[in-house]
Amino acid sequence: MNKIKQLPPHEAQKIAAGEVVERPANAVKELIENSLDAGALEISIYCEDAGKKLIRVIDSGYGMNEEDARLCFAHHATSKISRVEDLSQLTTFGFRGEALSSIAAVSKVTLITKEHAAAQGTKVILNAGIIVSQEPIACPSGTDITITDLFYNVPARKKFLKTKETESRQIVSLFQACCISYPAVHFKLFSDDTLAFNCPPVTTIKDRVLQLWDTRMAQHLIEFYVRDEEKNIAISGLISDHQYYRYDRSCMFFFVNGRWVKSPQLAKAVCKGYLNVLPADRLPVCFLSMTLDPAKIDVNIHPRKEEVQFLNPKQLEILVQSTTKKLLEQHVSKQLGKSVAFNEPMAQPFIPRAFAPATFSTELPGSMPPGFTIPQPFAISESLQLQSSIMPVSLPEMNREDSLLSQETQYTVIGQLHKTYWLLEHRDGLLVVDQHAAHERILYERFGMRFEAVSSVSLLFPQVVELSKTECESLISNRELFKDVGIEIEQFGQSQIRVIATPVHVKDISFQEVLHSVAALLREKASLQQSELAKLLHHDMRAMMACKAAVKAGDELTNAQITQLLADLASVDNRFTCPHGRPTCWLFRKDDLEKRFKRKV
Ligand code: ADP
Ligand code: MG
Repeated sequence: MNKIKQLPPHEAQKIAAGEVVERPANAVKELIENSLDAGALEISIYCEDAGKKLIRVIDSGYGMNEEDARLCFAHHATSKISRVEDLSQLTTFGFRGEALSSIAAVSKVTLITKEHAAAQGTKVILNAGIIVSQEPIACPSGTDITITDLFYNVPARKKFLKTKETESRQIVSLFQACCISYPAVHFKLFSDDTLAFNCPPVTTIKDRVLQLWDTRMAQHLIEFYVRDEEKNIAISGLISDHQYYRYDRSCMFFFVNGRWVKSPQLAKAVCKGYLNVLPADRLPVCFLSMTLDPAKIDVNIHPRKEEVQFLNPKQLEILVQSTTKKLLEQHVSKQLGKSVAFNEPMAQPFIPRAFAPATFSTELPGSMPPGFTIPQPFAISESLQLQSSIMPVSLPEMNREDSLLSQETQYTVIGQLHKTYWLLEHRDGLLVVDQHAAHERILYERFGMRFEAVSSVSLLFPQVVELSKTECESLISNRELFKDVGIEIEQFGQSQIRVIATPVHVKDISFQEVLHSVAALLREKASLQQSELAKLLHHDMRAMMACKAAVKAGDELTNAQITQLLADLASVDNRFTCPHGRPTCWLFRKDDLEKRFKRKV
């Protein structure tokens, strides 16, 4: 018997459909692109259950006549090209005539469409790609297409759909990209019957940013247009300045000849332009629109046209990187009134602390005379004591045995060095403590005691933090995790969260960064199990709050304050490293000092 069988056309079509539509956002993209290709100036998108249940796109474009309304679902039915050679001259998004046939093959579709001049429209209903009814209908001009039960007949693919949150995020990114590249179009996005975004036409991308994100972000954007005559490439758009950053790549958008593309290479090139400008692991915002000779790109390499191939990708990446760097240098130079270059080490001091510095909030004892002996024992690790070189060395394996705590050794506070380190005289030498690392550890341990033990205070003036709607939703649904670390949050308006109670030690810190970071973490770790996620978040939030609330390098402390903090440190576990793993203290042995000064050989 033959092994090879030819698949029946409807089965083959279902498989082919998977290439074009893998998830709801892909279907939404195809529908919006069709609307844009049809010259629509108003496009409303409706999604239920993140598009898994329903996707509906209504546009004010030129619509279709009765015959086209039926034909558009046929395989390779397109009004946009008639020969492959036409591809290089393409000005539309679509050209393969595959989208509608693919979507229809794996869902139930209702199409209502009417050309402007026509007296009446057409309604076509399809089930798994087969037309089940077609009739004339009275309707407004334009096209209204509804897709329900996506993948209902391909259970294997349906199973691979992600959580509602993840799928919805993809749709929102796509929506944002469309709004950015078509400022003249009125876009609306409804999610489960609520209007999530309403973006009437605007004249600048900055105005789009205000509609889609927030004022703070808009205030930190640098607008630009550059042209490389020799390479015949123009780049325009917006990038964030040195005082703003995000925690993920969700605000890095690239457009090539008007087409939104995902390009990790270009994202990397932009990030390289921010070298020495942004803290590690922080990401910029960018909306880069590149215009190249259409003959130098291939838009047909990706089944969903999400990527393009450049004839000379390296050239473009280098141009993007150097443009980014130059823009930042110009921007900062203008602000400072002197010229700066970011690849020099001097660039670092220009990075301001993005958020309000925390105030010192560990309770301190009353008045104490300076320079006295520490009343409480402060134990240091045996292995640290063995570390005798002053030269930079790698950190020794720390010895955290509890027995070390019982060493009731006395120290004298000499004072602060560079407002960053505490110098302590110890029987065995000079003990240097990093004030930020030490305080961070103290606070981290306190926040670990969970809500009942952490004294939480209700804020008289709750802090309001502006976030995106999706961020708000995910934070609110994880409200319990916040409670564990003594923070109480509540929804405030559609895209704001109010922090109404915090642990007593962090009442003065800005929660902007904490909430944004947690939202980013929730987004990245969406696939983790709830218990793992809770553990990770618990650690992260504690570390973050500790870091924000701890004294910083540069904060001046009295010896009394130092003494109190040393006593606090002596009482916590893991006191030899901060929550990020940096050492809190270092002993320069007396023996070693003597050797260096040739007192001893
Ligand atoms: P493509 O966009 O690649 O041509 P599609 O399957 O997406 O293929 O669409 C097939 C055809 O249906 C299009 O070429 C266009 O003529 C027509 N069409 C689809 N959507 C719309 C719309 N919203 N308004 C008007 N015509 C449309
Ligand atoms: Mg199309």
